[in-house]
Amino acid sequence: MLPRHGIRLPFQKEPARSQPTAELTDISQVILPFSYATEASVMPAVSLYDTVNKGTPLSTIEDDPIAIVCSSVMGAVSGEREIQHPLYGTLHCAVIDCMPSLPAPEVPVPLTEELTVEQILETAESADIIDELDGVPLILKLREWQQSGCDFLAADGIEIEPFASSACAVLREHPEQVLEGLRLAALCVGAARYHIAACLPGSIRRAITHRIGKDYLYQTDSLYPKAEPVRFGKRDGRYTVKYGSAVQKIGVQACLALYRAVYLGESHDRCTVTVAGDAVPHPQNVSVPFGTTVQQVLAYCGITEPPDYLVLGEQMTGTTALTMDIPILAGMTCLLAFTAKAIRPIQTRTCIGCGRCVQVCHADLLPFEINRRFRNMHYERLRNLSPERCDGCNACSYICPCGIDLAATIEEAKHIGNTVAVELEGDTDA
Ligand code: SF4
Ligand code: SF4
Repeated sequence: MLPRHGIRLPFQKEPARSQPTAELTDISQVILPFSYATEASVMPAVSLYDTVNKGTPLSTIEDDPIAIVCSSVMGAVSGEREIQHPLYGTLHCAVIDCMPSLPAPEVPVPLTEELTVEQILETAESADIIDELDGVPLILKLREWQQSGCDFLAADGIEIEPFASSACAVLREHPEQVLEGLRLAALCVGAARYHIAACLPGSIRRAITHRIGKDYLYQTDSLYPKAEPVRFGKRDGRYTVKYGSAVQKIGVQACLALYRAVYLGESHDRCTVTVAGDAVPHPQNVSVPFGTTVQQVLAYCGITEPPDYLVLGEQMTGTTALTMDIPILAGMTCLLAFTAKAIRPIQTRTCIGCGRCVQVCHADLLPFEINRRFRNMHYERLRNLSPERCDGCNACSYICPCGIDLAATIEEAKHIGNTVAVELEGDTDA
C-alpha cells in the first residue's frame, strides 16, 4: 500500500505527452466482465470455446441492456474467472484468447444526410460508449440531459496532474473527430453552444487550433481540480456563459467514440491510457482494447518485473493495485508504476497556515480548518464547514507542504458530523 500520509512526486507529463500514441494490437488475451454494475440478472451469452467477434455481446440482461459488455477483440472464449478489480470490485469475467485480426482502415463514411437525434442516440447506445470521466454509459447521460435541458456542453480534457496526458494525446491526434463527436452530442441534448476545454502547452494548443480553429478550444487558466471546463460570467469574449446556465461535460474519449460509432460504425472497444511512473522504461500513451491486462500494457512499455507500486487512475485519486493480472476497463485513463525509491513519505509537520489547501479546493472548502476542528473534536463547528461537500479529490493533501493528509481527515469528518454533536464546554475558539 502507498504510505497514508502523502507522497511527493515530480511533474512528469513528459515524455509520455509528446510521444505519439502507440496502438497495442498484438495482445494474447483479454479479460472482460459479462456486465458492469447492475441489479438485473446477468446471463452469459457465450460459453467455452465459442468464437467471438468485436462487438459480440457477452451476456444478455433483459432488464438492463445498457449494462451488457461486448467483446473488444476477435477470439475464442477460453474460460470464466471471478476477479477482484481495485476500481470495480468483484467482476464475473470471460477470458478471451485473441486471434490476429487486421486493423480496419479508418476511412470516414460520408453521411449523405445528417442523422436525426434519435439515430445518433441509438448509435451511441448500440456502440456501448462509456464516458471516461465517470464510467457512466454516454447514452444515460445524453438522455438525461435531453430531458433536463442543457445550454452548454463541454468536452472536458482538463487532466489530473501531474502524470495523465491521455486526453491531451487524443486531442492532439484527433481534434476534428473529437469536435465532431462533441457537436453530435450537443445536437442530441439541444445545447446551442459547446467547446473543448483543456489546459495544454503552447505548441500542442497551437497545433490543435490550426486544425479546428480557436472558437472551439477553451484553454483553462488553471489545472485540475480547480479548473472549470466553462468560464462563467466574465466578460472576456466568446467563452462567457451566464450564471445559472445548464452546463454539462463529457470526456474527449467519449466524443471520439461517438464520432467513430456514427461515421465508422465502430463500437467503443478501446481506450487511451497514460502509462508512466519511474518504473516505466518507455512512458507513453497507449491505445488498448478493453480487457487487456495491466501486465500486457506494462510489458509493452518495457516493464519486465512487477513494480513496487502500481496505481490505477492517478496518484491523487488513483487506487493501488496488488496484482498486474487485472484488465483495463472503461473509465481507466492512467496506469502508474513506481519503484520504492519514488514513494518517499513526507514527514508530517504542523500546519503553517499557508492557505494552499484552500486555493486548490474546487469545492470551496477550508480543508485546514476542517482538519483543525476535527482534531480538536469541535464537532458542532465542523458542521458549519460542510465537510460533506468534499468529493475526496485529494488535491489538498497533495498540495500541503506539511504533508498533512487533509483529505483522509475530511473523509472521517464527513461521517462523524452526522452522528456526534459535541461542543466542548467553554470552547470559545472561533
Ligand atoms: S479532498 Fe475535499 S477538501 Fe480536499 S481539495 Fe478535494 S474537495 Fe477540497
Ligand atoms: S496546505 Fe497544509 S500547511 Fe497550508 S494551510 Fe493547508 S493544511 Fe496548513
